[in-house]
Amino acid sequence: MKRVNIKCPYCGSRALLRSASVVYGKRAADPSAPYYVCAHFPACDSYVAAHRRTCLPMGTLANGPLRRKRIQAHAAFNRLWENGLMSKKQAYLWLQAKLDLPEQETHIGRFSEFRCEQVIRLCGSFFTTGKRAA
Ligand SMILES: [Zn+2]
Repeated sequence: MKRVNIKCPYCGSRALLRSASVVYGKRAADPSAPYYVCAHFPACDSYVAAHRRTCLPMGTLANGPLRRKRIQAHAAFNRLWENGLMSKKQAYLWLQAKLDLPEQETHIGRFSEFRCEQVIRLCGSFFTTGKRAA
């Protein structure tokens, strides 16, 4: 298992590799799933899920408002490919072009609240302009 040094962007403490049960308690859907959690959790409500095999974080640590924004952005983005309008790969290429970001940075898990708002707006307008054209 590779150890990565991650700092909490909110309080500057170290993030520790812990299990989902630390974050969600009994509500954890998968109690042993790995998470990077701020050393000051729960006083500092900041964490991010990690990949089970590599234990690498799936994005940057996020507090409550940012986590909610990322969930909304994912939902808006998933609409692009879940109904077969395009493949998931094509949807990422489209988002990459719209945001003018390199591929390795086009991950909603790494986005700020500002970027998430952009994703939600762009994905929303994709459907409204599509409807107007039809
Ligand atoms: Zn923190």
